Amino acid sequence: MGLFEDVSEFAQLHVAPYTVKVDRAGTFPHEAYEALKKEGHTALLVPKEYGGREGSIVDHVETCMALGSVCATTALCYMMHNVATMSIVAFGTPEQKEFYLPKIAAGELALALAFSETGTGTHFYNPEIKAEKTEGGYLLNGKKSFVTSAHYADYYLVLAANPQGEGLSVFATANNLSGMQHDDIAWDGLGMRGNASVPVYYEDVFVSDKFLIGSHGDGAGIVFNVVAPYFILGLASVYTGLSIAASTCAIEYATLRSYSDGSTLSKIETVQLHIASIFSSVSASKALTLNAAQSALDGKSDALALIISARLVASANAIDVCNHAMKVGGGHAYSKRLPLERYLRDAYAASVMAPSTDVLSVWLGKALTGQQIP
Ligand SMILES: Cc1cc2nc3c(=O)[nH]c(=O)nc-3n(C[C@H](O)[C@H](O)[C@H](O)COP(=O)(O)OP(=O)(O)OC[C@H]3O[C@@H](n4cnc5c(N)ncnc54)[C@H](O)[C@@H]3O)c2cc1C
Repeated sequence: MGLFEDVSEFAQLHVAPYTVKVDRAGTFPHEAYEALKKEGHTALLVPKEYGGREGSIVDHVETCMALGSVCATTALCYMMHNVATMSIVAFGTPEQKEFYLPKIAAGELALALAFSETGTGTHFYNPEIKAEKTEGGYLLNGKKSFVTSAHYADYYLVLAANPQGEGLSVFATANNLSGMQHDDIAWDGLGMRGNASVPVYYEDVFVSDKFLIGSHGDGAGIVFNVVAPYFILGLASVYTGLSIAASTCAIEYATLRSYSDGSTLSKIETVQLHIASIFSSVSASKALTLNAAQSALDGKSDALALIISARLVASANAIDVCNHAMKVGGGHAYSKRLPLERYLRDAYAASVMAPSTDVLSVWLGKALTGQQIP
């Protein structure tokens, strides 16, 4: 059995039972996440020498896709943890690796990304939060606008302007440092209802020197070498997973739903056309996402372009697939007797997460015509 199948099996047992509750109540998927830690999935990208699985970007993609095919919210929270973990693996000092990685491998720590801010929105790579040098560390002042897994994740990676010169720096802040305040208005989004994303305020928050990830100015490397491939492909994977779920549901429903005369929906040509469109879109999302991951793993020169296009296609296809699936599901889908309306609501997040698909489209067009992108 491959990794995708393994994780799918795990997710049916440990994630699926909570998806409806998580969506309806808008609560963080605690039980599912605890199981992810317990079964070692949160250790996927941790090198073996620190007790992890030393998985590749292809493994990251397969795992996020499998989780997304059961619960996009859980998959998103998990995906962000992997991106933060990889930032430490790639840029952490030996002491930081020694501190974080064995604990992550043992399922004792979960991580989150505190990158976005209201002042720069989808352009998260231009943070305004202030990090000022002080005796033994830094004082952080500002606000992060969306932190997925807030409260639950033990550490947030905070992207800030480099306090000692050009570029960016990343600080790890425990979730409860003095001066940090989480907005008390809970996440009430259209979809991704359990991701627990809230604004976090930093007021004279002291972060000691040892919590600057890597060196000053490494933030740009973290954003472009780690966040770009792992996060952009992670999103492509989560929403390809969601498309797989919508496809499975629509095909099963079309086959099983019968009228009094014994005929099923699947005998209707229009329904067949919807199913064909759904299957083709899912296949395209899956193939592009896996291919982009393999290109990244092989260090191909066009990997970033493939990664961006995989996210663009997977995000658009997720909404398209769900729209077709909603038509197949009819009133049963609209009335929430099928999970399709949840998939559709969740799918809308695929394009807005930073950098949004609009911004990425512009970047891809520029890159392909030899122009500079940020
Ligand atoms: C479910 C969810 C979870 C999230 N979790 C996290 C998290 O864990 N950590 C984190 O840091 N952030 C997180 N975010 C924030 C996310 O990454 C974005 O930063 C945020 O959604 C941007 O919203 P905004 O309203 O400020 O966008 P704005 O910047 O106001 O953009 C509004 C619209 O304008 C478009 N636009 C803006 N500039 C351009 C341009 N130059 N070219 C073309 N189009 C443009 C955008 O595409 C967008 O559609 C999350 C968001 C969501 C929805």
